[in-house]
This record gives sequence, structure tokens and C-alpha cells, in this order.
Amino acid sequence: MKAPVPEPRHRGHLRVEAVTVRFGGLKALDGIDIELEPGIATGVIGPNGSGKSTLLNVLSGVQPAECTAIRLDGQRIDGLTAAARARLGIARTFQALRLFDSLSVLDNVMMGTHRLHRHGALAACLHLPDTRREQRALRDEVVEMLAVFGTRLLPRLDHQVVSLSYANRRRVEIARALAARPSVLLLDEPCAGMNPAETEELAEQLPRLAAMAGCSTLLVEHKMHVISSVCRQVYVLDHGTLLMHGTPTEVQADERVVEAFLGVE
Ligand code: ADP
Ligand code: MG
Repeated sequence: MKAPVPEPRHRGHLRVEAVTVRFGGLKALDGIDIELEPGIATGVIGPNGSGKSTLLNVLSGVQPAECTAIRLDGQRIDGLTAAARARLGIARTFQALRLFDSLSVLDNVMMGTHRLHRHGALAACLHLPDTRREQRALRDEVVEMLAVFGTRLLPRLDHQVVSLSYANRRRVEIARALAARPSVLLLDEPCAGMNPAETEELAEQLPRLAAMAGCSTLLVEHKMHVISSVCRQVYVLDHGTLLMHGTPTEVQADERVVEAFLGVE
């Protein structure tokens, strides 16, 4: 029997086996196993210092780690640099924003499309017709994606990022990650600093954005109601170890989780 052809719109099967990170005597992560399913959002919760950002740093390749293996759609990526992983479609946002303040909203988001360019920098400088066509197509795709944020960013495409509200700067960072048409989207507390209405709005938009990209999502988030509305499954970290994983409902009902985290939120 022939193997089934993989569904092309759903990529991002990420399998993490036994990841350990040591900072001196401290184990920020201690033998963690995590699996992201293609096209599905997975949450990570845990108290401050439990290793959530370290986990994203390991997956994106900026933090060295000991591990048995990290595989993206079957391919070993744990030996690859951050740049090589980005080229394979691992995109991320940071807990502290990292944007080009003096560039426009559109230019910041277009930065994310870099890995999709088929024509090199020289062709771009020469403004060759193929390059112009490619740029226009990518720009149209980016604008279509930005429309998911309603009128938050579309009327401000040529505004300098420095002039935007905090929430809009967060949206630009998420859009830039998605512009790379990622297989895996890693979000580190995207709602941090947003007010309740903005948080609600983003929680509603994230699934639509991820569906457009067809990627899997790993969402680190403190607000359990955001995790519940966005994620199909949740991993709970505590002092670098995995306390449990399950559906948002299972996790919220678990005594250990309530004691270690939710009860004292
Ligand atoms: P979280 O994102 O869950 O709040 P982090 O992953 O940022 O937690 O941190 C996990 C633990 O690792 C914390 O105790 C933190 O102080 C420590 N840590 C994180 N990064 C470093 C680093 N670069 N050097 C030393 N210790 C670090
Ligand atoms: Mg963190």
C-alpha cells in the first residue's frame, strides 16, 4: 500500500526529546519531551523562571542544549544554527519586543519574508522585473495577513514602528514571524502588556493567523483563558521539569497545576 501523501498545508510536526539546559548548577530545563502536532496550537504554562523562554530559545536555536533529538517534520534540527532553523521555517517572537523602530510597519513585516525570496540581493538592487513581481506578490500576501488584525495595522503600513502603541508593536512582531510562512510559530507571551480587550482580540485572531500559515504554534502565555481559547493541548513546566500535559480542561482540573501555578496566579 502506498503511504498517504502528507497534507501540504499542515506542517510543523516538532518532536523534542529529552532537552536539558544547564546554567551553572541550575537546570533551567531537565529532560523535557514535547511534541507539536502539524497545524495545531500547543500551550506552555508555568510560573516565572520555570524554563518557558529557555525552551523557545532552544527550539529556535539561540540556546545550546543537551538533547536526544529535536526533529522538524522528521528531519533532525538540533545540530543546526538559528539561521538554518529559520530557513527551515521556525519563526518566533520574543518576550521583549525586537523590532526595527525607525522602519515602517510594512518594512518590518516584509523582513519576515526574507527566507522566501527566490531572487538574490543583486537582482533586488537592479530592480529586475522578476524581483519586482516577487516583491509585489509577497507584499500582497503580507497585506492580506495584516487584514486579520482589522484596522489595527492596515491604515498604518507606512508609519514608523516607534510611533505605534505597544499592542500594535506586538502585532507587528507576530505578523513578521508569520510573514515567513513558518512551519512552526513560537510565541513568547504575545499578550504581555496588552489590556484585557486587546488580549481577547488577539486570542481570537491567533487561530485564524496560524490557519492562514498552516503552521503549528507553541504559545507561551500566562493567561490561562488565552491558552484555553487558542490551544488544543498544554504542557505545564515547573522548575524546568514537566509537571503534566493534557487538554486545557485537564490541566486546569489538575491539583498539582492549581497548587504550583494557577492557584497563586
Ligand atoms: P520563564 O520564561 O519560564 O520565566 P526562563 O526560561 O527565562 O523562565 O528562565 C528559567 C531559569 O533559567 C530561571 O531560573 C532563569 O533565571 C535562568 N536563566 C535563564 N536564562 C539564563 C541565562 N542566560 N543565564 C543564566 N540563567 C538563566
Ligand atoms: Mg519567559
